[in-house]
Amino acid sequence: MNKRVFSGVRPTGRLHIGNYLGAGKNYVAMQNEYDCVYCIVDLHALTTLEDTGKLQNNIYEALLDLLAAGLDPQKSVIFVQSHVPEINELFALLSMVTPLSWLLRVPTFKEKVRLHPQNVNYGLVGYPVLMTSDILLYKADVVPVGEDQLPHLELAREIVRRFNEHFGETFPEPQAKLTNFPLVVGLDGKDKMSKSLGNHIELAATAEETTKKVMSAVTDPARKLRSDPGHPEVCNVFKLRKHFEPELITQLEADCREAKIGCVDCKRALADSINRDLAALRARRVELAAKPEYVHQVMVDGAKRAQIIARQTLDEVKSKMGLI
Ligand code: ADP
Repeated sequence: MNKRVFSGVRPTGRLHIGNYLGAGKNYVAMQNEYDCVYCIVDLHALTTLEDTGKLQNNIYEALLDLLAAGLDPQKSVIFVQSHVPEINELFALLSMVTPLSWLLRVPTFKEKVRLHPQNVNYGLVGYPVLMTSDILLYKADVVPVGEDQLPHLELAREIVRRFNEHFGETFPEPQAKLTNFPLVVGLDGKDKMSKSLGNHIELAATAEETTKKVMSAVTDPARKLRSDPGHPEVCNVFKLRKHFEPELITQLEADCREAKIGCVDCKRALADSINRDLAALRARRVELAAKPEYVHQVMVDGAKRAQIIARQTLDEVKSKMGLI
């Protein structure tokens, strides 16, 4: 039997190139070797989303992005988290085996408390248990994620060990799978690229929108004049160009250090290469958007297939925990 893969994206807006380069590319690549389950995790979005009126549209847009990126419903199970309600039961059961102290020390929780002290709900502290429940409900061996998710995955492994110790070997310890670009920094040049920070480029953006965004990107802050030598090692635009145009990078690095190329030209070249790279994905997305019934059916079929696995796991867990 193939190993099982699980991963999820939050429907907090359209996907961006950080999601794609940091995780999505692996989702697509792993479909041929693994038994893949991919989920739009709408319950997770509720922990921070203020305007839930956008949720249904966000789910649909995220699904369009994933299909356009190359997820194939013939190969992978693709579904929406809340459409398989077994998740809530496993979440409740795993909450009983997870010490609160483990959750309070999670760095992303501490960060959210710092940023939004007025919105620290019970669901937010339980977020990593819900994420663990997603992974465990499908007994995943491998979880393709960006680097920001590693602490959550470490916690998932701790929960697995604790569960298996108490109730007997039940779950594999899930391993992270990173891409070659596991942390994409946003256009502000400091924080991780994120929908919520507005420092991102949507996969579905037009070429013009992409260019406009890239032209606003922060480069080497020490470089004030076109004639100042650049420091590519601190420049996020350089890092992105390295990813999109690896063949040009040695020359570019020398030209930047000797001020033979300015930041404006460099950003324009980056925008062009991103637009070239995403052209086929964007064209597929336009085609898919013209077939809303098909996209809707993918969700319905995916939930049916996911639920079969979820029920089996839940029966086993309830039996081991003495509930049946
Ligand atoms: P966001 O952080 O934009 O709200 P999600 O939480 O839905 O996105 O993340 C979906 C996947 O994309 C996760 O595996 C996450 O690790 C990855 N990811 C998100 N942002 C980045 C980034 N800037 N660089 C690399 N990977 C990322």
